[in-house]
Parts: sequence; C-alpha cells; structure tokens
Amino acid sequence: MTKIQMKTPLVEMDGDEMTRVLWRIIKDELLIPFIDLKTEYYDLGLEYRNETDDQVTIDSAEATKKYGVAVKCATITPNAARMTEYDLKEMWKSPNGTIRAALDGTVFRAPIQVKGIEPCVKNWEKPITLARHAYGDVYKNTEIKVPGAGKAELVFTAEDGTEIRKTIMDFDGPGIIQGIHNKDKSIESFARSCFNYALDTKQDLWFATKDTISKVYDHTFKDIFADIFESEYKGKFESAGIEYFYTLIDDAVARVMKAKGGFIWACKNYDGDVMSDMVSSACGSLAMMTSVLVSPSGVYEYEAAHGTVQRHYYKHLKGEETSTNSVATIFAWSGALRKRGELDEIPELIEFADKLEKATLSTIESGKMTKDLALITSLEDVIVLNSENFIKAIRETLESL
Ligand code: NAP
Ligand code: MG
Repeated sequence: MTKIQMKTPLVEMDGDEMTRVLWRIIKDELLIPFIDLKTEYYDLGLEYRNETDDQVTIDSAEATKKYGVAVKCATITPNAARMTEYDLKEMWKSPNGTIRAALDGTVFRAPIQVKGIEPCVKNWEKPITLARHAYGDVYKNTEIKVPGAGKAELVFTAEDGTEIRKTIMDFDGPGIIQGIHNKDKSIESFARSCFNYALDTKQDLWFATKDTISKVYDHTFKDIFADIFESEYKGKFESAGIEYFYTLIDDAVARVMKAKGGFIWACKNYDGDVMSDMVSSACGSLAMMTSVLVSPSGVYEYEAAHGTVQRHYYKHLKGEETSTNSVATIFAWSGALRKRGELDEIPELIEFADKLEKATLSTIESGKMTKDLALITSLEDVIVLNSENFIKAIRETLESL
C-alpha cells in the first residue's frame, strides 16, 4: 500500500503520563501505517521541559507560528506535588498558557457527538462550541497575601509619569489582593476569531460577561465586541442568516441549559475554562471534547481538552490494565492533518482525516468502546476494551472502510 505523502511538517508536541502512552500507540496503529508522517517533534514531557528550562515549550510555539499547524498531547502543569515527583528546578508554567500567550489565539472546544452517548441535558440536540479567550485575566495575575492592616491601592503610571490611583481596600486585618489585566488588542483578536469562526461554521455566536458588576473591566469586553460587530460583521452575519447575541454571564448559563445547542458560546478566559468542563462532562466524557487554538493570523494548534489522565497512568505503571479513551487525542491528530491537507492542497490527507474520524465513531457505534463510555452509553451488548485494544479496533474499522 502506498502511504499518503505530506508536504509541510506538522509541529508535534509530545506530552505526559497516560496521554503520552496513547500518543505512541495512535501514531503506530493509526497514522504511520497510512501516512508518510512528517512532523517536527518537540518533547513537552515534563522531564524534558525541566531539562531545557522550559525552552522547548517556547521553541514549539515558535515552530507553530512558522509552520501554521500543530498537534499537542496533554501535558502536566506542575504543582507542589509535581515538584517532588519530578525533582523540578522550578514550578514551570502551564505549557498551554505559554503557547496561548505566544499565539494570542482563541480556543474553540466542541463535544464529539456519537450515537449511543446522549448528552445528559436532554434538549442539547447539537454540539455547543465553546470559545475561550486565551489571554490574561486570572491566568496572568499578580497576587499579594496581605499580612495585616494597611491600604491597598491600584496604581497606573503612564510613560509620561502621570498616575491614576484608586484605593482597593483599607484593610483592618489580614486579607488578599489580586491584580489582573487584559489588552484591547487581545480582546479585539478574540472578538474577530469568534465572529470569523461563527461565519465559517454558520452558527450563532453568544457572548456574556458580568458587565453590570464590573463596569469598566467586563464592560470593555462587551463594548469591543459590539463595536467590531457593528463595523465589520453585521452585514456578513445577516447574509449568513446567523446572529450575534450578548447577555449577562448568569443569564447565559441559565439559557444554555434550556437551549438546543448548535451555537458558539464565547467566554472570557475563566468562564471558558469552567464552562467547557461542564459542557464536556454533560456530553458524556471529558475524553469526548476537542480543542483547537486559532490565532488571528490563522495558525492552528489541535489538542484534546482533557489532561494527562494521571490516575490511569499510575495504574498503568503498576502493570494494571487501563481503559483510557483516546478519541479526543485521535481527533486532535485528524483535525491537524485535515488542516495541513487544506493548506497544502493534499486531498488524500483530508480524506484520510475524515476516514479516521468516521472509523473512530463507527467503532463506538458498533458497541466497542472504553470504560468511561460504556458506563454512560444507551447501547446494549457493549464490549469494553482496554486502552490499546480500543485503538486496534479503530484500526480494524479504518482498514475496512
Ligand atoms: P484529567 O487528566 O483530565 O483527568 C481527570 C479524570 O477525568 C480522570 O481521572 C478520568 O476519570 C477522566 N478522564 C479524563 N480524560 C479521560 C480519558 N481520556 N479517558 C478516560 N477518562 C478520562 O485531569 P487530572 O487527572 O486532574 O489532571 C492530570 C494532569 O493533566 C494534571 O497534571 C494537569 O495539570 C494536566 N492537564 C493538562 C491539560 C492539557 O494539557 N491540556 C488539561 C487539563 C489538565 P476516572 O479517573 O474517574 O476514570
Ligand atoms: Mg479546565
């Protein structure tokens, strides 16, 4: 069999724990036998990040800007426990945070829908795509633990030395302070990514903040979206027959629960982090959620929305059998390969990406799945497969298509 040829390499970002194990099997079983796989490999596993003082993460983000398409495995964001576990020199930052900041992009997450796994919100007939602003707010914060009584102020010093100064709190005892920021430029690219993606996928766009309480910070998000919509997108939305809808975040949450789905929900950074986990878990499993970071310059980074599945990895290390779901990681590869195929005009690569997704879904619909899905499926006579055999079952389906 002749393998599909690629032109430009994909930026491949390897990762940690159970997803690193799946990564290898996916490549061996589902990709290398069919494609003359061209990648530029970056090892974002925590050990190598530590060895390179995290330079490898920065290099991988630069390579993504250069080549345009990356595929990323889940990675550990170090915490205190990981410092000892991996004997780290420093508590390295979240690689996703570093890559997002470098690309200044927006993350779009959508559940993968498959027959037999119905969302627990009965009325969600279509997927809800979450667009998470990938810059700033609490993810780039400065915090102080206030030791005791004193005055906390917010001070901005302009380049010419003029000051804007406001009192945050006159503390009469210990407390906490947090400083967060965002940039008009980043909010503008977030807005444009969302409006463009809505037009691309012909879906309505919802956006929500807490502008009634945060009359300057959140209100700026609302105003920037409104201005860009009015001046650049209103006509295009009308022709496409789609809508832009702004409301308060609590109203949005309430409406989402009663909606039919099939729209994009744009969220500020924190709301997007939290709400994407809610939507994915309501749609079955964290392992059924795709994620793509799209930069305003048209650079794409595909990944699964879930983490490294640490608990399963420890079982794996003890030699116990695992049944870890590889669907979102497979879809990260298919998404990246399809985009590479589109950019390089390789129809066979696009067709392969479609086939790989179809094979994955057909395998589940035929009753073969991992444990997380078996627990929630409406299908009967289900065969629960271990991590490796599930991928092998997909290969069998793929070869039969
Ligand atoms: P997680 O890896 O998302 O897993 C949490 C739980 O969700 C698992 O224990 C498992 O439940 C279930 N789950 C998630 N993915 C699954 C899959 N593919 N198949 C089956 N079940 C799945 O989150 P975590 O264990 O809290 O975090 C582990 C590490 O991942 C952390 O170090 C964190 O920093 C990192 N993380 C990375 C990313 C990223 O790189 N994008 C995102 C989030 C977290 P059961 O144990 O009940 O089976
Ligand atoms: Mg999260």
